[in-house]
Amino acid sequence: MIGAIAGDIIGSVYEHSQIKTKDFPLFHPRSVFTDDTVLTVAVADAILTGRPYQLSVREIGRRYPGVGYGRAFIDWLHSDNPQPYNSWGNGSAMRVSSVGFAFDTENKVLKEAKKTAEISHNHLEGIKGAQATALSIFLARTGCEKEEIRMEISQRFGYDLKRTVDDIRPTYSFDVSCQGSVPEAIIAFLDSRSYEDAVRNAISLGGDSDTLACITGGIAEAFYFFERCEQRRANPVDIGLNVCSVGFRHNNATWPDFAGHCLILPRVVE
Ligand SMILES: [Mg+2]
Repeated sequence: MIGAIAGDIIGSVYEHSQIKTKDFPLFHPRSVFTDDTVLTVAVADAILTGRPYQLSVREIGRRYPGVGYGRAFIDWLHSDNPQPYNSWGNGSAMRVSSVGFAFDTENKVLKEAKKTAEISHNHLEGIKGAQATALSIFLARTGCEKEEIRMEISQRFGYDLKRTVDDIRPTYSFDVSCQGSVPEAIIAFLDSRSYEDAVRNAISLGGDSDTLACITGGIAEAFYFFERCEQRRANPVDIGLNVCSVGFRHNNATWPDFAGHCLILPRVVE
């Protein structure tokens, strides 16, 4: 989940000024956390507290206005009677990473990912995007190799994951749909050599950069830092989730303090 948040922050500068290169500074004076981070934390908060997803997402989401929500989502956040609005936007995928880290079986991950999506993004593609992201994280953190992840996700969700980042980049542009960004974010991970390389791949596609890097970053964190790193078996996720969740609940998670937590936590647990 920290990987998803760091991806959002790193990508934030390039959401509205896309780039087609992997050569860029990871952090910039204008780097901020955006809606991807706030809603990622909100979903994690629901898991930790046992509250319904809708309650946490609306409560924490409303506490952080102006971080990049879409118009329909803002209406939903403030509605007296919030109903799912059949969205296929990648908002369902950008907030789901904690599900892939928190649950212990494939079936439970798929079921919970669907639940997080359908509070608002109940279009089939919205649900698929959340499930594919969470399942990729689950498979990565439980020791699957990249080719197994590629096969499982493409067979189950019908995504074309045979392409490479270099195939996609020349013609890719800003796309906020799940079907037009989740497969590309997964490929950014599959094509990578490290966490940082994965995030650079995602941003270099020149699309919805913070969200692509957030989705890619969660999967890359699971793959590069979990089962493959002995020390991380001390369950850093719980530590990370709690720090983020508490910070946001107390409304004091401000940049750069919050970024400090994101960036320091992985080092602390190592
Ligand atoms: Mg965003």
